[in-house]
Amino acid sequence: MSEVFLCSICNVDNGGCKEDCAYCTQSLKYDTGVQIYREKSYEDILKEAEIFYKAGALGFCLVTSGRSLTPRKTEYIGKAAKMIKDAGYNFHLIACCGSADKESLRELKNSGVDSYNHNLETSQVFFPNICTTHTWEERYQTCENAASVGLMLCVGGILGIGESWEDRVEFYKAVNSLDPFTSNINFYMPHDALPIKKGIMQRAEALECIKLARSHLPNTRLMMAGGREAVFGAEQKDIFEAGINAIVIGGYLNAKGGEIERDKEMLSSYDLHIATACH
Ligand code: SF4
Repeated sequence: MSEVFLCSICNVDNGGCKEDCAYCTQSLKYDTGVQIYREKSYEDILKEAEIFYKAGALGFCLVTSGRSLTPRKTEYIGKAAKMIKDAGYNFHLIACCGSADKESLRELKNSGVDSYNHNLETSQVFFPNICTTHTWEERYQTCENAASVGLMLCVGGILGIGESWEDRVEFYKAVNSLDPFTSNINFYMPHDALPIKKGIMQRAEALECIKLARSHLPNTRLMMAGGREAVFGAEQKDIFEAGINAIVIGGYLNAKGGEIERDKEMLSSYDLHIATACH
């Protein structure tokens, strides 16, 4: 019987980002109205950790907005990581804090972070169409930095932002070259204030994207993240048949997700087990 890994997101820092990623509601360049806050309290982080741990999540990802992992963020995330582990929440702990050098990443690892999430987002060639304030190469370098200090990698991206099938193939070849433990798939969520004027991807095309990802990443945990509910609605059996074996539960950075219990009932109705160990 197949197992599905449940991952959860803790948005510790939100909005106010100076970068111009055209798909992201956290960018200051677009008037998206998302709430801006900095450094969620450790108490609130622990409360969320408890909720997700009790719900059966194995992954817990501490996410900051902004281009890169600053010394202050490194200290803050490191302290949060230590607190989560010391409290007995035996998560596979992930940090997602933007571009980072080896020294900061090593510090995170020493604080108890297991994986680093940094997305390539799309193909190298298409990337300048969706971001002009940093480069795809900077993203790739950060992934290499994370791997070099012994962090496991979660590397994925966003589909449905105007890229071609050729871009998708090149993107997955690049993801594969980093040999990530997990790869997340996000489908673009339209927003009036964002410059990408695309609708929600059609189900059939989205399934082809998942199959493409699986064909390039045969041994990687393939995680359906943002857009799961919007693209697939309540009937999601075919995403698992197409190769998904992990999902994000309980909501995304700035988009509501489904009810955790409903997701668990859905998995059980498809005869899918919730994974109880990470590796
Ligand atoms: S760097 Fe990250 S938070 Fe900032 S706009 Fe780009 S994707 Fe959003």
